[in-house]
Amino acid sequence: MPRPFPPSPYLPYTVRVEREALTGWLVERAQALGATAAGVAAVTPMDPTPLQAWLDAGYAAEMAFLQRHLPLRADLRAVLPGARSVLCVALPYPAPGADPLIGAVARYARGEDYHCVVGRLLHALWAELRARVPGEGRVLVDSGPLPERELARRAGLGWVGRHGCLITPAGTRVVLGELLTTIALAPTAAVSGDCGACRRCLDACPTGALVAPGVVDARRCLSYLTVEHRGDIPAAFHAAMGTRLFGCDACQDACPHNPTPEALPYPARDAIAALLTLDDDALRSRFRHTSLLRAKPAGLRRNAGIVLENWQ
Ligand code: SF4
Ligand code: SF4
Repeated sequence: MPRPFPPSPYLPYTVRVEREALTGWLVERAQALGATAAGVAAVTPMDPTPLQAWLDAGYAAEMAFLQRHLPLRADLRAVLPGARSVLCVALPYPAPGADPLIGAVARYARGEDYHCVVGRLLHALWAELRARVPGEGRVLVDSGPLPERELARRAGLGWVGRHGCLITPAGTRVVLGELLTTIALAPTAAVSGDCGACRRCLDACPTGALVAPGVVDARRCLSYLTVEHRGDIPAAFHAAMGTRLFGCDACQDACPHNPTPEALPYPARDAIAALLTLDDDALRSRFRHTSLLRAKPAGLRRNAGIVLENWQ
């Protein structure tokens, strides 16, 4: 059972002003270091019901860790004792690298591994903050139990669209990261938005993975199947993969909140076929410092095999 949260204490005016000033400075520093959006959410109880319902429906596929993380997500003080605030940042996708295969790769994974890019920014911010105010902190980039999209929404970085992604003023092509800290910061205001009558992302999804507005069934989602899933990809999804070697951008490319995507040349068939000849060490070396290794060498060869099957 999560421990009860203490009631919000009455804040003297000077304390509130100090916290707001510290938060304003931190958000400005985050933006100066490269964040397109930044804000603060207070550490308060998170209702586990929506995630539990999603898990109960089986939509998490084999991501069993999400069930284990549920109590930690509900009470972030179990992740960092005494945690009071979460600084959330959104950064643009890392700039594409020079590998000739990147045209076959989801946009977020075309450059340096975003865990490193976002982690560098947050560690730099944390060093600056710690130099001003004593406290504990923990940097997390898609690696811990934090409900990052919900925290970013609460912190005012954006709102969640029907494709389930955070829609920021700069669109959805952002990566998120968090600094969880015991330092009391002033929460920033949430923003609202809604999709209206639009359903472009639902229509664009090649597998019907968007089973309800904002609800993704990972068992059908190519972003999950080509990256996180281990073992064979069910044959029913091979044709839908088309020539996607890693990840899927279809729902985000369809979203009018994003600029028209930059076109990159698709690699030649031989370049995809060459992946099948590389052993694990060669693949690790080829894709070191990128997010592609998230699929593991076996997953990259599996994906290349399906792309070649689909080749016209
Ligand atoms: S990433 Fe691709 S498969 Fe997954 S929900 Fe979006 S469009 Fe569908
Ligand atoms: S494509 Fe349309 S429906 Fe989907 S998230 Fe974007 S605005 Fe909303």
